[in-house]
Amino acid sequence: MRTDAEIVVIGAGIAGLAAARVLHEAGKEVRVVARELGEASRVPDALLNPVRGKRGTVALEAEEALEALWDFYPRFGPVRRGILRPVPEADRGVWKGKLEGRRIPHQWLDEGLYLENAGWLRTTPLLHRLAEGLDILYAEVERLEYTTIYLRTPERRTLQAGLVVYAGGASGAHLVGLGGRFTPGSVLQTQEHFKQARSYGVYVAGHSLGGSYLPHQYTYTSHQTEPHEIEWLLSEAEKLLGYRPAVGSSWAGVRYRLDSHYLKEIPGGYALTGFGSAAYFYAPLYAHRLLKRIQGKS
Ligand SMILES: Cc1cc2nc3c(=O)[nH]c(=O)nc-3n(C[C@H](O)[C@H](O)[C@H](O)COP(=O)(O)OP(=O)(O)OC[C@H]3O[C@@H](n4cnc5c(N)ncnc54)[C@H](O)[C@@H]3O)c2cc1C
Repeated sequence: MRTDAEIVVIGAGIAGLAAARVLHEAGKEVRVVARELGEASRVPDALLNPVRGKRGTVALEAEEALEALWDFYPRFGPVRRGILRPVPEADRGVWKGKLEGRRIPHQWLDEGLYLENAGWLRTTPLLHRLAEGLDILYAEVERLEYTTIYLRTPERRTLQAGLVVYAGGASGAHLVGLGGRFTPGSVLQTQEHFKQARSYGVYVAGHSLGGSYLPHQYTYTSHQTEPHEIEWLLSEAEKLLGYRPAVGSSWAGVRYRLDSHYLKEIPGGYALTGFGSAAYFYAPLYAHRLLKRIQGKS
C-alpha cells in the first residue's frame, strides 16, 4: 500500500515533538499532523520534578527519566537546574526514607529538600526549536482507522501511515478511546521572576505560579481559569513564599493521565500520551522507548 510517511505522529505537544525528533534523528521518515503547536504543553513554565506531591513520592523510573531529559532538552534551549521543596520539619523523616537508595541527587538544607538534578524550562521556545526541520502538517484529525488518518479538511483528505503514533494529549483522546482522567488547572503569570523553582502545594518558576486544585473528570472539556482557582493559588503561594505575588494574566489547560501506561500499543501503532503533570519529565525517556519498540529492540 502506498504510504504518505513511514510514521505519522498525531500531535505536536511535548509528547509528539519529542517522539518525532528522536525518530527523525534515528533516520525514520516522520510526518507530524497537528491542529497547532502544543496545547497543554503550552503551560508557560514546566517543572521537571522527580519527587512529587506533598508526600514526597519518588516518580517511577525517576533516574532514567532524569538522565534522558538532561541528554535531550539542553540541545534545544536552556534548562534551569534545581527545585527547592520546602518540606515541613515533621515530614522530613518520611521523605528521607523514600529517597533512600535512590539515585536522585539532593541535599537537605534548612529551608527543605534541594533537588539539584531537577529543574524547569520555558516551554514555548522549546516547542518551536523541537519543531524546526520536522515535516509538520497543520490540520485537524477527524478520526483514525488503523493506519488511515482522516483529516477535517474541505477536500476530506486522508493520510496513509506505515505506522501511527498517537500523541494528541487530552483534547484528542477521543480519537483512540483509552479512558484516563482529565484534570483542568491554571497557571498565574507573576510579575516577579522566580529563577529558583520552589514547589510545595503550588509551584513557582520563571513567571509562573501553578498547582493542582480542581477535581479530575472522565471526559475532556476545555478549561478557562475560574476566580476561585486564582484565590486558591494565591493563598497557597502565601504559604510557600510568605506573601502573595502580584499577578497579571493566567493560562488554563487540561492534564491527561493514564496511570503510568504512557506507551501503549493501539491498532496501527502506538499511543504515547497520558503523562499527567509530568509530561516534560517523561517525554524524552518515552520517546527513546518508542524508538526501541519500533526498531524491535524491546
Ligand atoms: C495547570 C497545569 C500545570 C502543569 N504543570 C506542568 C509542569 O510543571 N510540568 C510538566 O511536565 N507538565 C505540566 N503540566 C502538564 C502538561 O502541560 C501536559 O500534560 C503536557 O504538556 C501534555 O503534552 P502532550 O504532548 O501529551 O499534549 P498537548 O500539549 O495537549 O498536545 C496535543 C497535541 O495534539 C494536537 N491534537 C489534539 N487533538 C487533535 C486533533 N483532533 N487533530 C489534530 N491535532 C490534534 C494538538 O493540536 C497538540 O499539538 C501542567 C498542566 C496543567 C494544566
